Amino acid sequence: MYYASSRAHTQVSVSFATALLQGLAPDGGLYVPLRIPKLPEDWLEAKSLADMAVKVLPAWLGDDFTTSHLSAICHDALNFPTPLLDIGEDIRVLELFHGPTLSFKDVGARMMARLMNHLLEKRNSQLTILVATSGDTGSAVADGFSGLERIKVILLYPKGKVSPIQERQLIIQRKNVQALAIEGDFDACQTLVKTAFAHEALADLPLSSANSINIGRLIPQMLYYLWSLRKLKNDGRVSLEPVNICVPSGNLGNFTAGFLAHQAGMPVQQFVIAHNANDFFPNYLQARREAFAYEPTITTVANAMDVGAPSNFERLHNLFGEQYLRQKLWASSVDDKATLEQMRQTYQKQAYLLCPHTAIGIEAIKRYRHETGDTTPFISLATAHPAKFPEIAQQAAIPQAQEAALEALWQFPTQVKTITPDIAKFIDIVRNFILD
Ligand SMILES: *Cc1c(COP(=O)(O)O)cnc(C)c1O
Repeated sequence: MYYASSRAHTQVSVSFATALLQGLAPDGGLYVPLRIPKLPEDWLEAKSLADMAVKVLPAWLGDDFTTSHLSAICHDALNFPTPLLDIGEDIRVLELFHGPTLSFKDVGARMMARLMNHLLEKRNSQLTILVATSGDTGSAVADGFSGLERIKVILLYPKGKVSPIQERQLIIQRKNVQALAIEGDFDACQTLVKTAFAHEALADLPLSSANSINIGRLIPQMLYYLWSLRKLKNDGRVSLEPVNICVPSGNLGNFTAGFLAHQAGMPVQQFVIAHNANDFFPNYLQARREAFAYEPTITTVANAMDVGAPSNFERLHNLFGEQYLRQKLWASSVDDKATLEQMRQTYQKQAYLLCPHTAIGIEAIKRYRHETGDTTPFISLATAHPAKFPEIAQQAAIPQAQEAALEALWQFPTQVKTITPDIAKFIDIVRNFILD
């Protein structure tokens, strides 16, 4: 199984291990699979998410991981439940927020951390991860890598643009982790990371990325899509086909994983992609945007999806092309008012508390059904725990969800540096932290 850069057409391909450890390809592109392996025939017989991983991943990872190593990694990483909840109106919500930092990002981050650590042990080497986060990525990555001896993490987040709880999760003191509050938006953070990777002052140091741009985070994210269909089949009330899936999206990593699983053989009739006011992708699909252009990020109540220029678009475009994407996908952009309204309605009708990101997904499903008349059952991804966003629940005038793990956060010591988005200063910090 080989991977190549999304930029060069004739470039040499690399193994999964190389793509995982490098993060970004040398030409600045994102790694994409050269071909998409078919799902194993027995994928619908998996007994757990970890068991699904052991069945499905070998075809994608190649022979750098033995079955017993892979099994140990998957069972250790995927050790929390992912319930599929019927909330009425033929919508089932896949709750992906029962991991340690309470968002779906725990799945990719915990798997990636353990896959990397295994390779570094085999090679007796070390690595530093640079990660830009719009909220949940940084805490999932910091937590996923915490305690791993061979890896250091530097995480950047836009100061003032994450919720107080998200910030707390980011800046908790962790061994081998440095948090940086950047005076700028998410794209400024991402630009610092991208520039650092290409910078000669850091060329002698082993660096990697942990954003959804790393293929090692993306591939494990296929698993819960497959697991949700496995559960639906078990459930008996709904036949496996057809089913629609809705994905609340920002950087489009989560959706790219689902679409890869679909290309590998997972039966999905229609993907619905739900964005907040950052509407590049819905516009693109409706041919209102011809090409990928820099879009300033708009701040919304669903801040983990505040991405003006989704980096995985490059991957999707390279893998599937404009025509196929436009023909296959349906997307909508949901503004803050409609998001809050959907949080309120779902609480009133179903007595179910949604986080703002998940509410955008439910709203997009309603719009899709209204526009197309399609009554196919939906699985909608619930991307974060509603208890992470008490301020937004208050704006929506719904009760605040409770979660004991969050209350414990305020007891821990914190550590963070605030800097302007200045590349020279950033590079200095990175060098000193690595060589320290
Ligand atoms: C990261 C995140 C998203 C967006 O996922 P992408 O892979 O960036 O599209 C949605 N909801 C929550 C809660 C997130 O943390």
